[in-house]
Amino acid sequence: MIDLNAPIWRQVDSAGNDADKWLRRLLSGEEAFREGMEILAEDLSHQLSYYSATAYVLPHLAALCGRLSLEDRHFLIAQIGAAIASEGAMSLVPDTTEYREFHEGLDGLRPIVRDLIQNHPEVLAAASGEDGQMFALGALAILGDRGHVIALYNLSGSCWEEGPGMCACGWEEECIPLNGGPDCCIESAEIAPWDGKSLDDEAVWVNGLLERAGDEDIRPVIHLVYGTGVCPECGKREPYWAWYSRWFDEDF
Ligand SMILES: [Zn+2]
Repeated sequence: MIDLNAPIWRQVDSAGNDADKWLRRLLSGEEAFREGMEILAEDLSHQLSYYSATAYVLPHLAALCGRLSLEDRHFLIAQIGAAIASEGAMSLVPDTTEYREFHEGLDGLRPIVRDLIQNHPEVLAAASGEDGQMFALGALAILGDRGHVIALYNLSGSCWEEGPGMCACGWEEECIPLNGGPDCCIESAEIAPWDGKSLDDEAVWVNGLLERAGDEDIRPVIHLVYGTGVCPECGKREPYWAWYSRWFDEDF
């Protein structure tokens, strides 16, 4: 964890370039927690871009998170998920200070998220629709595949009704209907019921968390995005996520 008076804070970036100011206010209690947390999270996730300040902020947030009420821990995870997930679109270089800080932050947040999921299901069940959905995505960013979170945020542009994909043969489609219909070309994954505790199978626990949150936006397409694409051109079968990343890498 890097002291807030260290020179590095003048070099790191965020959307407003003042992440250290908001972090300082949060840590001192000078700013009301939820208001300050919302501003800091927006500063670090504007337009789903990755900002280098995120890595340096995370260890401080992990330490703060452990001292909060269960409801505020939940709020923090929901808010910071997009900032963490955005690293999945670029991936930090190992053996750098930035990489170490980012992972120190994740290491601190993981047990807090696991505890919320496994021992305090009532907190998520009581959250409002959007907060519950954001918590599920935040938990996925911290415990699972960050690229999947970015993809799920990007699919919100079509209200999770369509998604892009590209096969290695060159076939690509920007608007695959995520409805299981004849033009869908994705076979559903069989998603087993969740025991409310296990975090081994990402599709199972993410689906379970979204169900616990009462989500009706993302949950209906989970069996497809974790399913298998079947190329209409060459017939090759691949996880939909492989189609998504190929399309994303090609087009961005
Ligand atoms: Zn193909």
